[in-house]
Amino acid sequence: MELLDLIIIGGGPAGLTAGLYASRSRLSTLIIEKTAPGGMILLSSEIENYPGTGKTGTYALMQIMENQCREFGCSIKIAEALEIRKTGHFFTVRTSEGEFSASSLILATGTRYKKLEVPGEREFTGRGVSYCATCDGPFFRNQDVAVVGGGNSACEEALHLTKFAKKVYLIHRRLEFRATSIVKERLKQNSKIVPVLNSVVQEIRGKTGVENILLRNTESGAISELPVTGTFIFVGLIPNSEIFKNLVELEEGFVKTRELQTDVPGIFAAGDLRVTPLRQVITACADGASAAFLAEKYLSNLRTS
Ligand code: NAP
Repeated sequence: MELLDLIIIGGGPAGLTAGLYASRSRLSTLIIEKTAPGGMILLSSEIENYPGTGKTGTYALMQIMENQCREFGCSIKIAEALEIRKTGHFFTVRTSEGEFSASSLILATGTRYKKLEVPGEREFTGRGVSYCATCDGPFFRNQDVAVVGGGNSACEEALHLTKFAKKVYLIHRRLEFRATSIVKERLKQNSKIVPVLNSVVQEIRGKTGVENILLRNTESGAISELPVTGTFIFVGLIPNSEIFKNLVELEEGFVKTRELQTDVPGIFAAGDLRVTPLRQVITACADGASAAFLAEKYLSNLRTS
């Protein structure tokens, strides 16, 4: 089996940028991506805070990143990474498509949306319950929908849903949203957004699809019924770190790093997967570039030691 210089696990903004930088440094580099390059940002239709592009479609942006990465010789394999073994100074990644080995690794598997864990959520997923406004928004044209959560994801996706829905109830368990100020201003200016504050979802109900949700007021305890045909859930992120749990040190599931290095020499982490104060495309890209640079330094020290 060929021993590569670097394997990057995850092909989102962090992984693709790491691939671009590593390939330009002439490291033999393989990105292992489970579904398709692009990452979780593809669940949003547009991005407006990535410098240099202006408001742009996420698919177009990620397509450029992928092409740029391939252009310099980075290979991308669509496969699920299942296990990582460390043998001496190299690592073997067992995937759904075979085994690959390299002298260094960058972990960049990102996160996924957290579930609300209420009755009806699982039952109606795909039948009114959704975690992707871009994918499913058009199915709710002229209907009333609910969005659950109070962060940037919930608030931005609620705004996106106003393009289709008649009314968008934005249900948050506190009195204040925690999204960026400009997003909160837009919520106030949009007459289709109806904030439902100090409220939590107790149950999602219906027959063949979602018909209503049961809400509980967190202050009074009062229960009310809200008629909606769709419920979009954005209540935070879960790190995709399950296969790394016996490999590197984690904190609440996120990979702990010190200047992007994990506690295992030769393994670096980049992007949303690691413990970091800000999870954005720009910060993921910056991580990817730095992680590739550090991997190159590590490999060069390894060769001379
Ligand atoms: P988040 O910032 O962690 O917010 C999660 C929200 O869900 C919070 O308001 C939280 O309430 C609420 N929540 C959590 N568990 C809940 C439950 N069981 N029931 C009801 N509500 C619950 O997650 P996010 O919005 O997905 O954002 C994740 C990261 O991505 C953040 O760093 C964010 O800034 C970034 N992001 C950035 C952009 C952008 O810049 N354009 C867009 C999207 C996401 P509390 O407020 O009470 O904790």
